[in-house]
Amino acid sequence: MKSSNRDRKCKTCGVVFSYRSKNEKNCPPCRPVRGPRRHLPKLMEEQGRICPLCDTALPEETDASIHVDHLWPVKFGGTDNYENLQAVHIKCNRKKNATIALEGHKVVKDILCEVVDGSRVSIRGTRSDCRIILDDNKRQSICRLWVKRKKVYLGVLDENKRETKHRIGSFETIRDFADEIRATSQRYLTDEQ
Ligand SMILES: [Zn+2]
Ligand SMILES: [Zn+2]
Repeated sequence: MKSSNRDRKCKTCGVVFSYRSKNEKNCPPCRPVRGPRRHLPKLMEEQGRICPLCDTALPEETDASIHVDHLWPVKFGGTDNYENLQAVHIKCNRKKNATIALEGHKVVKDILCEVVDGSRVSIRGTRSDCRIILDDNKRQSICRLWVKRKKVYLGVLDENKRETKHRIGSFETIRDFADEIRATSQRYLTDEQ
């Protein structure tokens, strides 16, 4: 019979530990941090140890209640690059519910903040295919956001209400179309008068 000894010495500190796979050379505490969590120390420093979702302090870096969150979700192709990450409380992340509809709505409201009150800008549709509209009037579509095969698209309208579709790579890239979004809203507001 083959030996089933799965104990070995840690390459770094020398402690004996039992390994789960043959290429595990370090005991759990000595194992290098991989994935997005490796950016945690820098994120914590840059954020001033504050969770951007609730604006309160984060615990120590080693605390398991900190989650490294992707600003542009992985399911839509978001990467583990530093720029796409933020350190947040796990409980805040669970509440975040990042959908294209909700996050996109926030950005569009912000783009329009000087044009129209945010309470007049609402969403219709589903979490993955929605229209952002003015005054809850479906004939006053400001833009459309939808997901197809893990890619996210933004549709903006010209003065004839013809839609041009753009693939976007983050919520922030909606701002590249701020002029179109403002112009569309202005047209509805002018029609009102
Ligand atoms: Zn070790
Ligand atoms: Zn928080």
